[in-house]
Amino acid sequence: MNKSMIEFHEYLKSCKRIVALCGAGLSVSSGLPTFRGSQGLWKNFNMIDLATPDAFYIDPGLVWQFYSWRRYQALHSQPNNGHKALAKLSKLENIDFITITQNVDGLSIRSNHDKSKLYEIHGSLFELKCTSFTCNYKDHNNFKHPLTNALKETEEEFENVRKRRFQEDQLNSPQFNPVKEINEDELPRCPICNDLLRPGVVWFGESLSLSILNQIDNFIEQSVDLILVVGTSGTVYPANSYVDRVIHQGGKVAIFNTDIEESSLKDNEIWGFKGDAAELLPIALKPLIDE
Ligand SMILES: [Zn+2]
Repeated sequence: MNKSMIEFHEYLKSCKRIVALCGAGLSVSSGLPTFRGSQGLWKNFNMIDLATPDAFYIDPGLVWQFYSWRRYQALHSQPNNGHKALAKLSKLENIDFITITQNVDGLSIRSNHDKSKLYEIHGSLFELKCTSFTCNYKDHNNFKHPLTNALKETEEEFENVRKRRFQEDQLNSPQFNPVKEINEDELPRCPICNDLLRPGVVWFGESLSLSILNQIDNFIEQSVDLILVVGTSGTVYPANSYVDRVIHQGGKVAIFNTDIEESSLKDNEIWGFKGDAAELLPIALKPLIDE
């Protein structure tokens, strides 16, 4: 074991309050593609253009097919040892701990993470919420697939893409099936008011939940000994502010990422562990979670 891991273990044993801040890198070894690169297309639509309130307003059937496909992908991925290590940490009674995740894939919940210590700041593919302004209906951790009969077949799309991955050069010129037209009454509807339901993810142009941000603020206000920055550059608000606040209070930072900027490691309050979070986290957290 290298010197910095030994130092980290020594410090970890003294920690009473810990925060984990997670991003896409945590789920990569579960097989989930990230938004960027050649996989940033779905049926020739740019994925980023589909993740907006406007897109949903214009064609909810199209956006729901996209999210149905993403739900299917996530459901067919398994939580990895990184998710599981954090879930174990969440079960310890002698440590105050929360996980703040930017991921919407539901893998932390499925790894048996304590729900009361998990903040999905960008929402979840498995949350549904009512689009009516006067209705507060939300359905958490709904893992049903497909959500309606009309949303069947998005999984076939996924299988086709997976098959295509084995054939060279096909990824850059995907020949997707045309998108079905789906009537609004064949999409998920609110059981209270019968209005349209939408995916409970935070879309581009929307704000994060104030209530979630407040709960995180309350936790971070009482000094945190350590923040684990996992699979994210942590440079986007509010993630960057959490790291700064922990350092400001005298806490330390440990970064787990496949690519770490050397410039971020100049302070000795920061450890950097380069590699796959799914392999590194169980090793790094071993002194606390190895029963
Ligand atoms: Zn409703």
